[in-house]
Amino acid sequence: MAGGGSGDAKSRSILIAGAGPVGLTAALELARRGFVPRIVDDGPGPTPIEESRALGVNARTLTLLSPSGVAERIVEAAQSIDRFRVRSNGRMFFELDTKQVGGRFSAIRGLAQGHTERLLMEALSAYGITPEWQTGIVAGAIADVKRPEVALRHPDGRTETVRPNILIGADGAHSAVRKGMGAGFPGEALEAYFYLVDFRYAGQIDTHFAEVSIFDPGMIGRLPIAADVIRYISTLEDFESRIVHPAVVAERTWASHFRIHFRHVEPMAKGNVFLAGDAAHIHSPAGARGMNLGIEDACWLAWLIAEGREQEYSGLRIPAVKQVLKQTYGLTRLITMANPLAIAARNLFAPLLLRLGPVRRTLLRSVAGYDTPRPPWIDWAE
Ligand SMILES: Cc1cc2nc3c(=O)[nH]c(=O)nc-3n(C[C@H](O)[C@H](O)[C@H](O)COP(=O)(O)OP(=O)(O)OC[C@H]3O[C@@H](n4cnc5c(N)ncnc54)[C@H](O)[C@@H]3O)c2cc1C
Repeated sequence: MAGGGSGDAKSRSILIAGAGPVGLTAALELARRGFVPRIVDDGPGPTPIEESRALGVNARTLTLLSPSGVAERIVEAAQSIDRFRVRSNGRMFFELDTKQVGGRFSAIRGLAQGHTERLLMEALSAYGITPEWQTGIVAGAIADVKRPEVALRHPDGRTETVRPNILIGADGAHSAVRKGMGAGFPGEALEAYFYLVDFRYAGQIDTHFAEVSIFDPGMIGRLPIAADVIRYISTLEDFESRIVHPAVVAERTWASHFRIHFRHVEPMAKGNVFLAGDAAHIHSPAGARGMNLGIEDACWLAWLIAEGREQEYSGLRIPAVKQVLKQTYGLTRLITMANPLAIAARNLFAPLLLRLGPVRRTLLRSVAGYDTPRPPWIDWAE
């Protein structure tokens, strides 16, 4: 059924597993087109603000969340990142002005994932839809992907069997829906670990730039999260001793470490079961693309469902996913290299290349997320 869907299409039952940023976006984009999806999550609530993984919200995400009004709220709440700098052993490698990307939005802004989730939930609640927390999809094979049947476990231990017309798995990297479909998650894990720490400062700090400092070997990234909070992320276990604090530290709010995987599922759908976000693809945080790419999946899927063209979803998304994975893989290799010869070549050639206008523009467009196909349902230029 084409052309925005009929009343019939909108009465199709839709179950979304996972109320992270991707599941919430799918619910919101469906709700604003007249659908009434059900959204469940086995966790107790949205991501605690202090434990947010994703911080970078790119311009493409703001384009996508403009029709729902969420983009405007994100712009109000987020830190505007005007400059993106790379330093090597203290020397400035290059600096990009994020506003030079053109269009309505600068390339990237900083906002804690937990905050983004709350803004999405607020917009969703205007349609009378609230995530059902502590309600998880029970792992198990989905026998008929055309008319999927899944069991939900409620907080009181009760189990409910549901047979939605459409099942969306936005249930993260360990997705029960993906496993239930019998899909693999091929790819690789890097040897390297990434370490992160968030500091809240007592004094005035400059939050208008993001920076990557490259050492030989290793790196430390610096990204503002709030007016008084900065995240540092590194490949070096002992990186905290190298941080040059911009003001007096008031609190070390969060620290964590994780191993990097590059994996994606193909196809991203079987029958009427669809995968979006980390359930479908995971990669390194270099480039801040993970949540943004997942939000893009959710928006495309909702639009295709409304158009009655959801069977095109996987074919349309896979090229974008592969491109972002390839690019973040290259970027991650570049910042984690340990071979002295390779480091010397990088340090010699990267600054020369980055003096070239087309190279800078390409880099900026990818930070903005403009390197994947434009959403055809949004008619203004980005
Ligand atoms: C250190 C770090 C930094 C990052 N920085 C960025 C960044 O700056 N920008 C960016 O775009 N991305 C970033 N990412 C990636 C980003 O965090 C993820 O891509 C994003 O959280 C994916 O969203 P999601 O909704 O797909 O999955 P998740 O956020 O993992 O949400 C999945 C939800 O599903 C629920 N769930 C799980 N199992 C079930 C079940 N069986 N039934 C029901 N619900 C279930 C979970 O409780 C959870 O709420 C970063 C990642 C890391 C590790």
